[in-house]
Amino acid sequence: MSSEQERINSYEIAKKQVDIATKYLDLDPGSVEKLKHTKRELIVHFPVKMDDDSVRVFTGYRIQHNVSRGPAKGGIRYHPSVDLDEVRALAMWMTWKSAVVNIPFGGAKGGVQCNPKEMSLHEIEHLTRRFTWEISMMLGPEQDIPAPDVYTNPQVMAWMMDTYSILKGYSVPGVVTGKPVELGGSLGRFEATGRGVVITALEALKYLKKPIEGAKVAIQGCGNVGGVAAKHFDRLGAKVIAISDSKKGIYNEKGLDLQRLLEYKAKYQCFVCDKKEESEITNQELLELGCDILVPAAIENQITEKNASRIKTKIIVEGANGPTTPEADEILSDKGIFIVPDILANAGGVTVSYFEWVQNLQELIWSEEEVLDRLTRIMQRSFKEVLEISHSKNIPMRTAALVLGIGRVAEATRLRGIYP
Ligand code: NAD
Repeated sequence: MSSEQERINSYEIAKKQVDIATKYLDLDPGSVEKLKHTKRELIVHFPVKMDDDSVRVFTGYRIQHNVSRGPAKGGIRYHPSVDLDEVRALAMWMTWKSAVVNIPFGGAKGGVQCNPKEMSLHEIEHLTRRFTWEISMMLGPEQDIPAPDVYTNPQVMAWMMDTYSILKGYSVPGVVTGKPVELGGSLGRFEATGRGVVITALEALKYLKKPIEGAKVAIQGCGNVGGVAAKHFDRLGAKVIAISDSKKGIYNEKGLDLQRLLEYKAKYQCFVCDKKEESEITNQELLELGCDILVPAAIENQITEKNASRIKTKIIVEGANGPTTPEADEILSDKGIFIVPDILANAGGVTVSYFEWVQNLQELIWSEEEVLDRLTRIMQRSFKEVLEISHSKNIPMRTAALVLGIGRVAEATRLRGIYP
């Protein structure tokens, strides 16, 4: 993590965004204050027996930001930089995101401060099971439903589901989403966030009257979101010119041999460039490449006031949560860069998580075609709604998405009233 990232507090940014967006909503100050606070925060310190028989204590969080529109929903992150304010911000963004795509969920997030890259599979399983037990009083299909996020995956969700089910005494598939398909996971869920990124990128291109064929795409991050998005951009005829992981990026102005790169990455957990035309670049260099579409799909606070003036893309589609700071937003807007903001662009994941939850509760299995068709319609409709607000109020796409999401949450809160 760079010192720049250390300095930036994502929760302060999330609160600032509420202040910016609520200027366009007719809300009383008390309601705005409520939206800036999380509802419930649990911090746990728990022991895990490591492979060498030593015991390590880890710190984990589960935070529910708002449940006015439905059960709390949000991923679980395993990363060394996880802390209270990061999880608060991510929970808040989940609330707005669910509301932007109009699905009946509130927002939550969780995480454990750890470095899974330095842990064995057994240690990750033990950590997952104990963490699930520690936060189990907050979880449940009607209460709070986790999903994968950075450095967690369907296997981690399977352990969470199993641990919660053991506690209950019967199988509860609907307690998590992003599970393996064999355990009630939805077809199309693994690909959903990356596909949603590509669907909204296509809408942005259509709006700007630019073709996808030959469009140059640079992608920061090559995990669930970045890796899947890269494959789909490639399939649609775009040219993915750069992709990166936490260590480095690979660049080829003429377009990368993605299949080879992704296969190598899956096998050896790293990139290697073995072609004359490819070169290694840093993550910062990747962000500043001349391209048509830039997809930050790694972590927060990557585009800041420090590098925003050097960003040369025409469109940014935010696969990651919170990759751009408000100061950078202003610079990018002055440069005329069109932004599809995170709470719209990466909402494909929570949308198909919702489909998974619905299938679990009804004990149904939808075909992949049905999932993708519903996902596409929701993403296209949401893009159109945000664009319309952006035009009618003459505000940037991010503010428009926040106005849509926060407006829906505020209205649900108003209708429910304050108890007692
Ligand atoms: P992942 O763990 O599958 O992949 C993360 C990727 O980011 C990896 O390629 C990793 O090498 C890279 N990375 C990590 N630290 C980095 C750094 N400092 N600089 C550059 N790259 C770095 O995670 P993911 O699920 O793909 O999530 C990526 C982003 O998308 C996160 O912001 C996450 O919150 C967001 N997101 C994920 C989903 C989902 O369904 N998985 C949904 C919505 C939003």
